[in-house]
Amino acid sequence: MRIFSGIQPTGSKHLGNFIGAIVQYVAGQERGDPAIYCIVDLHAITVDYDPAELRERVYDTTAILLAAGLDPERCILFRQGDVQEHTELSWLLSSVTPLGELNRMHQFRDKSVAQRDLVAAGLLFYPVLMAADVLAYRAHEVPVGEDQREHVELMRDAALRFNRRFGEGLIVPEARIPEVGARIRDLQDPSRKMSTTGSTEQGTVYVLDEPAAILKKFKRAVTDSGTEIVRADDKPGISGLIEILAVVSDTSPEAIEREFDGARYGDFKVAVGEAVVDYLAPVRERYAALRADDGALEGILAEGAERARALAVETLADVRTRMGVGPRSVGPAA
Ligand code: ATP
Ligand code: MG
Repeated sequence: MRIFSGIQPTGSKHLGNFIGAIVQYVAGQERGDPAIYCIVDLHAITVDYDPAELRERVYDTTAILLAAGLDPERCILFRQGDVQEHTELSWLLSSVTPLGELNRMHQFRDKSVAQRDLVAAGLLFYPVLMAADVLAYRAHEVPVGEDQREHVELMRDAALRFNRRFGEGLIVPEARIPEVGARIRDLQDPSRKMSTTGSTEQGTVYVLDEPAAILKKFKRAVTDSGTEIVRADDKPGISGLIEILAVVSDTSPEAIEREFDGARYGDFKVAVGEAVVDYLAPVRERYAALRADDGALEGILAEGAERARALAVETLADVRTRMGVGPRSVGPAA
């Protein structure tokens, strides 16, 4: 079982990234053979960004992942831009990706309206590069949050279309989306997902936030006019808080509803805030030590890139041969 997932080095990671993705990455180390995780710097350049900052943000994200429990002995952790096979494969896959599908992707629509100067072609092309990320490793499983479901669908279609056209060279991967916590909501605007680029500052809880800041954000979380602590479609705020508390205290939403039956919203919000503070505290502590050593972080990424490349090179040789690109070779498809 090969597992692959990518995470952006944009800004500080938030509770949604942590619960929706990073926790599954850590668990995937047990099952993955191997589990491969990639910091996607090439995806981060599809929106406005600062070149001087990008490298630093890659180190930030690397340190967060290590602090959360990724172990370079038990997974492959690397920076996307270090393995050039990703970009080559994305071009090759563009020939089996319908433009109309790219146009329909929610992420493209949401992020393109937010761009002021330039809607880069890279933003439209993002899911093709993401397909290449996963398909280059012939991964079976892709742990992601709910918002990435349609991108995984698109890469499955690309793999199927490739296999029909050029022979069975690629594995058709499956999304692995957590049952609870797949779409953590913005605390100020529960109709939106918590997000690096699109959510409100006060509604976004960062993994590295100070405990006081976390508590404040939860105390101010938007709820609804009712009084009951239960999940319901017309109670997105309370429903979101129930899910968060269930995940961070390792129990079910039903158990949380029972425990807080009759409690007041205000007390409930404090309970969620305190539980999140306790949950993130050890990560924040480990982060400080890890982040202080750029050299060590770079060493981990470089070694990861070497291991990743060894796998991707094989897939690329096969794909090129099947597609008739380059000289005839003695790869698996020759
Ligand atoms: P951006 O808004 O710029 O796309 P992001 O917050 O979505 O940033 P990414 O690095 O793109 O961060 O996402 C990393 C992983 O976190 C992905 O698997 C994504 O599905 C997941 N994720 C992002 N936001 C949430 C959320 N609110 N709840 C659960 N999972 C999430
Ligand atoms: Mg995202």
